[in-house]
This record gives sequence, structure tokens and C-alpha cells, in this order.
Amino acid sequence: MEIFETMAQKEHDQLVFFSDVGSGYRGLIAIHDTTLGPALGGTRFWNYASEAEAITDVLRLARGMTYKAAIAGLALGGGKSVIIADNHTTEREAIFRAHGRAIDSLGGRYITAADVGTSVDDMEYVRKETQWVTGLRGTSGDPAPIAAFGVCQGIKACARFRYGEESLEGRHIVVQGLGRVGYHLCKYLAEAGARLSVADIVEERVRKVVTDFGATAVAPDDVYGIRADIFSPCALGAVVNDDTLGRLKVDIVAGSANNQLAEPRHGAALHERGIVYAPDYVISAGGICSVYGELKGWTAEESMEKAGGIYDCLLQILEHAQEENVPTSQAADTMACRLVAEARREREA
Ligand code: NAD
Repeated sequence: MEIFETMAQKEHDQLVFFSDVGSGYRGLIAIHDTTLGPALGGTRFWNYASEAEAITDVLRLARGMTYKAAIAGLALGGGKSVIIADNHTTEREAIFRAHGRAIDSLGGRYITAADVGTSVDDMEYVRKETQWVTGLRGTSGDPAPIAAFGVCQGIKACARFRYGEESLEGRHIVVQGLGRVGYHLCKYLAEAGARLSVADIVEERVRKVVTDFGATAVAPDDVYGIRADIFSPCALGAVVNDDTLGRLKVDIVAGSANNQLAEPRHGAALHERGIVYAPDYVISAGGICSVYGELKGWTAEESMEKAGGIYDCLLQILEHAQEENVPTSQAADTMACRLVAEARREREA
């Protein structure tokens, strides 16, 4: 893998490798851009098949965070970290303290929070080693409920754009991934009157959503082929790919998962098929609003209000993409790059 070439292509600032033999910690921290502020992004704990896969993931996720903060209007840059190991380990304190020391060594250029495979408890271990961590108990806590609220607002905006009304009453929505965001999203969607089909690779999570919200369980591999109004990916990335594209029978793809498009061309393919795609980093910005609110001393209501802004922001991007006849993913990328470039010019003036 040509790491510098990969970084240069998407203008990444920094990629740092950390290792702690005692705990078995192997971590990567990527900082994409700090024009708008310190790089903020969660820690993903995942058993990557290869180091190259982890590098690709952390770089893509970090860039997504730059765009996410820019479009949400937050004074933050984009970064992300990954820990490469089996995230079911019970030896968490040593690993997350090693991660905390790694973060601390960057002196505040990178601030972390929980992400896939990590929890508020893990962040408490990180806090023992560094102040550069958010989403702790007693502060803003788990950002997932606010992230889910933002996704629900974004889904309503998509419904208004596609169907002329934001109501989700009777809409059939397929939710993939019933973790921290997916569970809360199902709650909001059920309250809004949607009919839910749900899948997770962990059966217990499926059972809970079926019991709590009257959802219908589907097998994880079947989610792409269901005829429904909306598909909401809330698990991992790259779910819109060459294999799944032809199977999708929905009007809208809108969920919390980061990096939903396997390649940028898949955004164009959705556009060609007339499927409305909510750019992932736009619709999932509620989580970052929550942790940003913590840094700024906002109340939970203020963070929620900021996350509610996803509705107007997303609608504006969808309408702009329609006017220009470009994929929504491209319209969002263009807007994010323009915002960062303008801020850079101002800073350098
Ligand atoms: P999580 O780890 O709590 O939940 C992810 C869920 O997806 C788990 O239940 C897992 O079993 C399930 N899953 C994994 N592979 C699957 C598959 N193939 N089919 C069905 N289910 C599968 O993570 P989360 O915090 O809920 O985040 C979900 C997504 O949203 C991630 O992509 C994350 O980056 C993104 N996101 C999270 C937040 C946040 O605040 N937590 C904010 C913005 C975006």
C-alpha cells in the first residue's frame, strides 16, 4: 500500500501508528484536516482482516469527519482512530489506557469519543490518561441517542423531498444494525408510525427491537432485497456496493453508518436509479453535535436543537443536487470542500 500517495489523494494531514506490547494495543490515529478546529472523531475497535484495511478505514472515516463537522457548521476538524483487535475482549482497561496515552501524545490535535465496538466505559479508561476525550458519563454521555434523533430528522427530510410530505406514518423502513444508534432510531421511527423490518448479526438485539417496537425480524443477508420505502443502514460502511446495488428495492437510503458507499461511483449509481441517498456524514451529524455541545458547555436540549438542523441542511443538499442533476453525495462533498477551503483562505489571509 502506498500510504503517502493515499494520504495525498484526499489531503490527509497525519497518520500515526501506536503499539503497546504489554496490553496488545495496536492503534492508528488519522487526522484529515484541522482548518476548522481540532480533529474530532470516535474510536473504532474492530478486528480488521489486515493492516491495509484498517488504514483505509481510518483515513476514510477521518475525512468523513472533516466533511461532517464542516456541513454541520461546527468549529471542528476531522479525525478518527481505530484499534485493531477483537472487540469482545474483557481486557479493556489496559488497551484503552494505552489508547489514551496515544491520544495525549498529540496534544489536543485529536479528540476522541465512542464509536463502533467502544462504549462510554471504554472512554472512561481513556480519560484516565488524557483530557482529549468526550462523551463521558456525567457529561454529554453516549452521543448515540442524539445521533439517532438527527437520523430520524434526516429521514423525514428525505421523505418530504421524495414523497412531498415528511410524515413516516405507515412507511416501511428497513433498519440494518440495532446497536446504540439503530436501537434509538427504531424507537423514533416507531413513534412516528413507521412499519419496521430490522436485522442485526446479534440475535438478542433483534429480539429487543421486535419486542419493544413491534418490528419484524429479517435475516442480515436479506435486508437489501426487501421491497420497502426506505433502507436505513446503521451498522458498518460500504453497504452500497456492486453486489447490493442491483438488489435495492427502495426509494430512499438514509442511515447513520459512516462510509455507506463502497466507492464514490456508487453514489452516482444510486442517482441513476432514482434512489434518494442521504449523504452519510450529513445525516449522521447528531452524534458530533452532542460531543461538540459538551466541549461548548451546551445543555442536552441545545445539542438536540443543533442536531434537528440536519432536516433543513439535508433538504437543502437534496434540492441543490436535483437542480444541478448531480448525485447527492457529490453535492455534499462539493459543499464540504468549499466550506473548508473558504475557512482556510480566511485563516491564511
Ligand atoms: P454499534 O456498534 O453500537 O452498533 C452497530 C450494530 O451493527 C451492532 O449491533 C452490530 O451487531 C450490527 N452489525 C454489524 N454488522 C452487521 C450486519 N452485517 N448486518 C446487521 N447488523 C450488523 O454502533 P453504533 O454506535 O450504533 O453506530 C452504528 C453506525 O453509525 C456506525 O457506522 C457508526 O460509525 C455510525 N455513527 C455512530 C454514531 C454514534 O454516536 N454512535 C454517530 C454517527 C454515526
